[in-house]
Amino acid sequence: MLSINELSKSYGDHHALKDVSFDLAKGERVALLGANGSGKTTTINSICRLLEWDQGDIFFNGKNIKESTSYLRDIGVVLGGCRNTNWRLTASQNAEYFSRLRGVSKKQSLANISKLEEQLGLAQYKQKEVGKLSTGNKQKASLLCALAYQPKLLLLDEPTLGLDSQTVTELQKIIVEQSNQLEQGFLITSHDMGFIDKICNRVIVIDQGKVIFKGSISTLKEELFHYEMRLKLKPTDRAKLNGALKSLWSENTQFEQDKEDIIIRYDSVEQAFATVNWLAQQAITPQELSINPLSIETAYHSLINKEIKA
Ligand code: ATP
Repeated sequence: MLSINELSKSYGDHHALKDVSFDLAKGERVALLGANGSGKTTTINSICRLLEWDQGDIFFNGKNIKESTSYLRDIGVVLGGCRNTNWRLTASQNAEYFSRLRGVSKKQSLANISKLEEQLGLAQYKQKEVGKLSTGNKQKASLLCALAYQPKLLLLDEPTLGLDSQTVTELQKIIVEQSNQLEQGFLITSHDMGFIDKICNRVIVIDQGKVIFKGSISTLKEELFHYEMRLKLKPTDRAKLNGALKSLWSENTQFEQDKEDIIIRYDSVEQAFATVNWLAQQAITPQELSINPLSIETAYHSLINKEIKA
């Protein structure tokens, strides 16, 4: 459905995007991840033609988007700052306006809006103009407008910004439901890794304008480490363990220390057992000990750190 080929954009001599390429198929939920300033919004803005890029092509359903803007009827966008709404209208008036503009019948528009208003927790603000809503409710209004006409592709730039946790959970349900039932594609940027982990089939990681990873979330985790052990020890015990770490763990291990914890990321379960045995032999009782599967957040940070060091 969406195909981005070697997209590049510079501001002066700063490369905001450098040869960015990826595809998104019908019904896919893809996350675009990256640190602040990595180029996510520039990518989203390019796809909806809010800025002109320097090189590369973007295709929507096989057609180059530079040749016609008609594809915009099939795209819903949520940009930061509730920019897709008229602040003097209510959320539902906005949503109905955009829905009717795209040719959805009045009956269908009102049915979609009313369902989404309930799900997003907006129903109680029916009479309020968007400009008078709180920040989180303005974000809900933006989401309502983009989701209500059920476009083929949704571009959501930081959709959870300002939302309470109950609405975030509802939004997860809406996205998964709409993509499964209506085969809508979703391209989502977010710094909320828990949100991404729950809903996305695939992730694209960009760093300083370049794609550094494309694949499933499980592949992202597998390319790094499977488990993470965290130990909190008394300073004397910590020094002892530090002395033994190298002999207890193979090379394919990542160690990190902060003020509180020793953090070990690894693949082999045997090595974790060996460490716990060693602690028992030394009569060291950790103040805290946890072993967890690697989270997407840790996997992502390890990937970014690896790129920065390389
Ligand atoms: P964030 O997570 O903070 O939203 P982002 O990944 O969306 O960041 P972009 O907004 O796409 O990042 O910015 C990419 C790079 O382009 C940054 O270095 C940014 O400073 C630069 N940039 C963006 N817009 C402009 C502009 N109008 N003029 C100059 N530089 C810009």
